[in-house]
Amino acid sequence: MTIVSKAELSSALAALPRVRLAHLPTPIDYCPTLTKRLEGPKIWIKRDDCTGVAFGGNKVRQHEFILGDAVSRGVDVVIQGAASQSNQSRQLAAAAARLGLDCILMPRKDAHYDHVQGNQLIARLFGAKIVPVDATASLKQAKEDMAARLKREGRNPAILGMGSQSALSLAAVAYVNAYLEISSQFEALDEAQPTHIYATSQGSTQAGLQAAAMLLGHSTQIRGINPMDSRNEAYEFPSAIAGQCEAAARILGFDLSVPVEEISNSTDWVGAGYGLPSADGQEASALLARTEGILVDPVYSGKGLSGLLGDIRSGLLTAKDRVVFIHTGGLPAIFSYADAILACT
Ligand SMILES: *Cc1c(COP(=O)(O)O)cnc(C)c1O
Repeated sequence: MTIVSKAELSSALAALPRVRLAHLPTPIDYCPTLTKRLEGPKIWIKRDDCTGVAFGGNKVRQHEFILGDAVSRGVDVVIQGAASQSNQSRQLAAAAARLGLDCILMPRKDAHYDHVQGNQLIARLFGAKIVPVDATASLKQAKEDMAARLKREGRNPAILGMGSQSALSLAAVAYVNAYLEISSQFEALDEAQPTHIYATSQGSTQAGLQAAAMLLGHSTQIRGINPMDSRNEAYEFPSAIAGQCEAAARILGFDLSVPVEEISNSTDWVGAGYGLPSADGQEASALLARTEGILVDPVYSGKGLSGLLGDIRSGLLTAKDRVVFIHTGGLPAIFSYADAILACT
């Protein structure tokens, strides 16, 4: 496999349609107290919770490429359906408002639907049309039906998130860019490249990081901690994540073959289920808050952090390692989980 230079990757990224939404590069914070407390690797946090639009998160970064592509194809309405506390829906509604696109959000009538707080509250402030979907119905199907109806009305809709492989691949492309940011930030810090990068990921975030590391020939290991497992309609198997790595490389004009064994994505930290706070996640959240003054959320970033702490405590990562935890955001959800969070503290 031919190795690509960072300059070649940067110019391939620069050639893609893109809208500017995020505050980039996001900061990278060294965590001295957490590092000392755990007596393991040096830990940095890449602050993608600080991407800037509507309380930030990884989707702001991803929407630069996803909506850049949509706008270049003349899309005039975007459709997203997910859990009622979806971070993506919140970030999409804000981005669509900024770009003058119509936005339809299809929240699931799940346990958090009736209590309008957190992401759901914020998502409603941007003028998106809200079309709730029954708790047991397929969101994928609901989104497809909505797109078909809009097409019949002469609109040019795009489905985002689950059910759109092309949007998921462009989301991965955005994390090729994030990898380059991390690499340059480590150079500027005069640190050797990270040995490991951790992120809470269902697929796209991890796939972009993995594709970048492989294309550049870096030995940095990418580990995704999944907030869901195969009980959930949106779960992506490691083989699908490998496919997303290849697709992201292809979009950038590079040929990459990713054996499924290269993908390290763990479902060990899901706990009782997607969207249900876990004891390990809440312990990790409290530790980060009390050592570094940084918050993570109970659905995504807290569980991702619990996976990193688990790998440090089991000795998988040692004092020789340099690890970056990508903070993918999700903080507004805290406000709809007050009871569960208080029960753990
Ligand atoms: C969507 C989301 C993720 C997962 O991102 P993928 O690109 O699907 O891997 C992780 N964390 C947060 C906070 C999210 O909102």
